[in-house]
Amino acid sequence: MAEPTAHRVVIVGGGFGGLFAAKFLRRTPVQITLIDRTNHHTFQPLLYQLATGILSEGAVAPPLREVLRRHRNVQVELGYVTGFDLQAKTVTCVRPLGAPLSVPYDSLIVAAGSGGSYFGHDEFGRFAPGMKTIDDALELRARIFGAFEMAELEEEPDAQRTWLTFAVIGAGPTGVEMAGQIAELSKRALKRNFRRIDPASAQVLLFDGGEEPLATFGDRLCAIATKEIERAGVQLRMHSRVTDVKPDAIVVQGPDGEERVACHTKVWSAGVQASPLARLLADATGASTDRAGRIEVLPDCTLPGHPEVYAVGDMMSLNRLPGVAEVAMQSGIHAARAIKHRVAHGEVSTKPFKYRDLGSMATIARFRAIVSFKGIKVGGFIGWMMWAFVHLTFLTGFKNRGIALLKWLSAFVGKSRDERTITMQQASGRIIAMGAGVKPGEEDLSRFVESQPAPEGQVRPGR
Ligand SMILES: Cc1cc2nc3c(=O)[nH]c(=O)nc-3n(C[C@H](O)[C@H](O)[C@H](O)COP(=O)(O)OP(=O)(O)OC[C@H]3O[C@@H](n4cnc5c(N)ncnc54)[C@H](O)[C@@H]3O)c2cc1C
Repeated sequence: MAEPTAHRVVIVGGGFGGLFAAKFLRRTPVQITLIDRTNHHTFQPLLYQLATGILSEGAVAPPLREVLRRHRNVQVELGYVTGFDLQAKTVTCVRPLGAPLSVPYDSLIVAAGSGGSYFGHDEFGRFAPGMKTIDDALELRARIFGAFEMAELEEEPDAQRTWLTFAVIGAGPTGVEMAGQIAELSKRALKRNFRRIDPASAQVLLFDGGEEPLATFGDRLCAIATKEIERAGVQLRMHSRVTDVKPDAIVVQGPDGEERVACHTKVWSAGVQASPLARLLADATGASTDRAGRIEVLPDCTLPGHPEVYAVGDMMSLNRLPGVAEVAMQSGIHAARAIKHRVAHGEVSTKPFKYRDLGSMATIARFRAIVSFKGIKVGGFIGWMMWAFVHLTFLTGFKNRGIALLKWLSAFVGKSRDERTITMQQASGRIIAMGAGVKPGEEDLSRFVESQPAPEGQVRPGR
């Protein structure tokens, strides 16, 4: 445990940047307060496996207190950060029941990540959730498995088809992974689960305005990816921009003009917007923000005029680095190392952050992935093995790695999807409401049912 008078470090965010910074400072005589709006770290790269029933939420979201239990110089606070006073050196946050909290610091690391962007159409989010948080993935899981349930209940072929059409918007890594796994569910994992519908007849459509899926991987890997996506049973719709999202349809502007695609289940994976905290820090320091709202930091990840304040990970803009986990981890460690230097030597280190590029990868379907690493480009099964090795290595917690490995064997060698619980609240509320176009906040089915005329000759039971 650090001395009460020790250097105070506040870390905002327990994602990749914040968590790796806190871990790096384990043996440094500092007092760390790590503030997060949730009680867990989120391993975002595997969220799609939570949304498609392969992994449970515990496997991808270990509790921060548990991960840091041996780090006696870390105090974890559940709170929503709302502002900073960079002159008084305090962070302001709101606790779950609304009580404000002001936390003083000597050094501050802000690693609040990013969220989805609907490019000015936030109203799309109601019917096409993104996938950034555990809440998002659980919501999507309920919608995806709920759609098959609703199709089974439906007798009218067109209505059944609407439930069995899945639209994924955005063909970057997240969109491709989601589409691939929904196709896998329908073609393989849900076989023999239903009596009236054939899940394999589901259509999985992947829309993107660009020319190729996974465009950042270059031509060779894009070509491999395109082949594998189609082989997995996903219908690729490139050059197709989604211009409107309705409860039971999307409107697409494609090469052949405008088209209305009837579907209830949509996944939005098209845009990224930095945490609003980036804007707050930019306003306070005169730093600029880029198009995605990321704050432009100095080469050492600090903010202009504030060598004690670092912005790292997805919310920082530096040397056009991508918003990936490796950048977040390495920049978090970089900030922590500079603080360690300051505590040890009493002077500020302005050493620039140097990113070590460890390549990029994306899974497409079962045993299929593409990997780009230092000029080496690999696809197919070898790519998938590399992907599996890297993700198991970085997954937080030994137990979670074991669980993930077993679940992968069971889902990919076998066919099982064990994690597909739909809660009563979701079943009676959101899924059915989704089909009925009920507004958020009015999802309680009992209220919806009561608002409908009772079938002839029947009365509704009182509550
Ligand atoms: C679906 C998906 C798949 C991905 N796949 C890959 C992949 O395969 N490989 C890869 O390298 N990268 C991948 N990424 C990107 C990678 O996950 C991010 O780059 C990384 O998580 C960024 O780390 P971070 O610490 O900056 O932010 P995050 O990990 O997002 O952490 C931010 C933390 O800050 C907290 N927070 C935010 N605002 C507040 C507030 N106001 N108050 C308190 N707490 C707050 C959040 O709760 C969160 O815990 C993926 C991302 C997504 C969404």
